[in-house]
Amino acid sequence: MRTKLLILLALVGGFALGQAAVEPYQVSINGNVSKIKVGHDKDSLILPLSLPVSTDKEEWTIAVQRDDKEHKLEVKMSSIKRKVRGDTDCYYCSASGNCMQDSPAGSGLNASGASEYYCNGTGKCTHCGGSKKL
Ligand SMILES: [Zn+2]
Ligand SMILES: [Zn+2]
Repeated sequence: MRTKLLILLALVGGFALGQAAVEPYQVSINGNVSKIKVGHDKDSLILPLSLPVSTDKEEWTIAVQRDDKEHKLEVKMSSIKRKVRGDTDCYYCSASGNCMQDSPAGSGLNASGASEYYCNGTGKCTHCGGSKKL
């Protein structure tokens, strides 16, 4: 078991395609099960994460806990910029909490059946995190 803490500053959002994993790792992001496929590079796992970028400077804290026994990656990611939550219905997802980019919405999959990258394969609305409130 390993814990890594990365602090990424001034990030320009990016997205890398993961290679097919030799042994599948189950990814969960902020407690939501994700359909992300984890790549392998020798003893490293390659975790393709998407970060929504809405301002000219974004700061994120990303913590990854790797459990080789259970073949799990537990990801905690949060934007340092704090948003007030819970006031209004989320208008991005029509207060459904589902990722609208998914096919069908909330499945975490795209039209090809692969992990959908807007929500990192969790099926949760990227704006309200599935809470249905902004
Ligand atoms: Zn999605
Ligand atoms: Zn939403």
